[in-house]
Amino acid sequence: MKSLAILGATGSIGDSTLAVIRKHTDKFKVHTLSAHRNVTKIISLCREFKPQRVVITDTCAYTEVKQALSGQSVEVVYGANSLCDAVCESDIDLVVAAIVGNAGMESVVAAVNAGKTLLLANKESIVTAGSLVMPLALKTGAQIIPLDSEHNAIYQCLMTGYQCGNVPKDVAHLTLTASGGPFWNTPISEFAAITPAQAVAHPQWDMGAKISVDSATLMNKGLEVIEAHWLFNIAVERIKVVIHPQSIVHSMVNYLDGSVLAQLGSPNMQIPISFGLGLGDRLANEGGLLDIVNVGQLQFFAADDVKFPNLKLARQAIISGGTAPAILNAANEEAVAAFLNHQIAFTKISEINDRMLNSLSLEAVESVPQLLAIDQQARLQTKRMIEKL
Ligand code: NAD
Ligand code: MG
Repeated sequence: MKSLAILGATGSIGDSTLAVIRKHTDKFKVHTLSAHRNVTKIISLCREFKPQRVVITDTCAYTEVKQALSGQSVEVVYGANSLCDAVCESDIDLVVAAIVGNAGMESVVAAVNAGKTLLLANKESIVTAGSLVMPLALKTGAQIIPLDSEHNAIYQCLMTGYQCGNVPKDVAHLTLTASGGPFWNTPISEFAAITPAQAVAHPQWDMGAKISVDSATLMNKGLEVIEAHWLFNIAVERIKVVIHPQSIVHSMVNYLDGSVLAQLGSPNMQIPISFGLGLGDRLANEGGLLDIVNVGQLQFFAADDVKFPNLKLARQAIISGGTAPAILNAANEEAVAAFLNHQIAFTKISEINDRMLNSLSLEAVESVPQLLAIDQQARLQTKRMIEKL
């Protein structure tokens, strides 16, 4: 029986993780859950899964949840620090990092520092702090299993020769597939009029609002290039991106001899999550499985980084190094929030990212407090830029 902490339990990845656990209650026990503001959902999850502890990171939500669960055995605790304490509990085996944004970074570092097995969905934390997290994982022996479908696919294709943080020497390059989001075929002249409702309507995946907008601007793929760079310790020049609108081939590993290994599956996050939870033992997954004949066609197109400048910016951030990825991530989080809030046009997201990446001076990454300060500074400056717009 494996004991789990699921951070960000009320989100889309939280939903998919708990759906897998419901099918395998003989193998997994929920020890800790976390949520930010969705009071109704976290109360209902606590009643269903009866965790020992629930962490709430929003003050008002905390008061409500504590009151509602006062007669139950679950301990209700508050705040970001409690997330870090919670993942270090000795009786937790697996930590699922499914918080959205850099808000999940400290708890990811805490889990790795405690040597836990980390099932990582929260890509923003590795984008910001990859240069600290990966050496720390090697030191503590923490295993990091990516849940992001592309990185999970690569992990599966590398399994025989993979050790945390290093692709085998016989890998020529990695190919990340991207669905292209809802607008990869839309003329650029129509981009300025794109609404938040159109941007979050992803053609293949059902996800949270932030990652859906990132998919529409291709920043999601940019963040994933950075994520792959850190997770597999590979130069950005050896990470290619192709548009694959069907989202069936989740990514590929191109070996030196010309062999290409790919992982395929329906666009259903329960599949990479099942792989992560099973840790090599395949968990049976009924329903929603791949019918390749029904799919019929698998297409691949070159990615267009003129139409989607975020892709280029992500590569630039890695090449610039130091705190550049942290700045780009913070700017993007604020720009996406402003777009979802109807404050800026769709096209402004990449414009803001570009200006922010090129306006703050860069530092070498040294510590988590330093990264948190850089994140705050970049957010403040981005907000000021948005106000001026
Ligand atoms: P979501 O918006 O559906 O859920 C986010 C979760 O984070 C919620 O439980 C929320 O309570 C919590 N949260 C939000 N703000 C918080 C804060 N300030 N402090 C603490 N907790 C906070 O997001 P999602 O789609 O589930 O994505 C989660 C992460 O997984 C993201 O990093 C995303 O890029 C990554 N991811 C998601 C998918 C997907 O299919 N949804 C696929 C690959 C990777
Ligand atoms: Mg992905």
